[in-house]
Amino acid sequence: MQRIPADKWYAVTRLDDDVTYICEPHIKEFYRCNIWHVRGRDSDMLVDSGMGVVSLREWVPLVTERPLLAVASHTHFDHIGCHHEFECRAVHAAEAELLAQPTRANTLADPYVTDDIFDALPPEPYCSKCYGVMAAPATRILQDGDVIDLGDRHFEVVHTPGHSPGGIALWEERTGILFSGDILYDGPLIEDTYHSDATDYLASMKRLLDYPVRVVHGGHFPSFDGARYRQLIRHWLDAKRDRPTGQRLG
Ligand SMILES: [Zn+2]
Ligand SMILES: [Zn+2]
Repeated sequence: MQRIPADKWYAVTRLDDDVTYICEPHIKEFYRCNIWHVRGRDSDMLVDSGMGVVSLREWVPLVTERPLLAVASHTHFDHIGCHHEFECRAVHAAEAELLAQPTRANTLADPYVTDDIFDALPPEPYCSKCYGVMAAPATRILQDGDVIDLGDRHFEVVHTPGHSPGGIALWEERTGILFSGDILYDGPLIEDTYHSDATDYLASMKRLLDYPVRVVHGGHFPSFDGARYRQLIRHWLDAKRDRPTGQRLG
């Protein structure tokens, strides 16, 4: 398979609200994590950091311009690969251990990471069999209700377990922006990883429905507006009511 040079690995798109979308276009869409950079007055925030197969710091200078907090929406391999490159790292308490001691199994690199998840491979010396996430112990442990303060912007931590136990969304009331991680995006949701929980998932979706969201930047797939947000959650909740799984749904 073709290899992509490091300088062509990331694609960077500036959006509204001082949000920049960074992606790894050569990873197939279903596996491709969205990386979000938010500019604040005093400091910046990075929501997730991709697979870590090419240095973000080296090839996306935007992330080195200001003091920056690298937040993990959760700790699956596709979201935390470059966290070790940043001095300040935050994760929910329930996945702090994972960020500090990642393995191929606990980050889901095993079984997902094979050459099949790419349209073209990262540069040498990348190899799918040797791939692993580097440890990046958190410097800040997050709990529900905590606030990430960028000076003029404030993001509230909303604990959204279900996809994984320490999943979080980040909510900015002033702009109506929600970074949702993997609990909700406009594509097939994953509810059956080794540490997923159906009861938690249902509670998280019910809770999210109450937020007056204007725009959602999710962990995967394109961003969407508040109407689509409410539609996606309602459809998901309706489907659970019609086809309950074997597990107790609270
Ligand atoms: Zn995930
Ligand atoms: Zn993901």
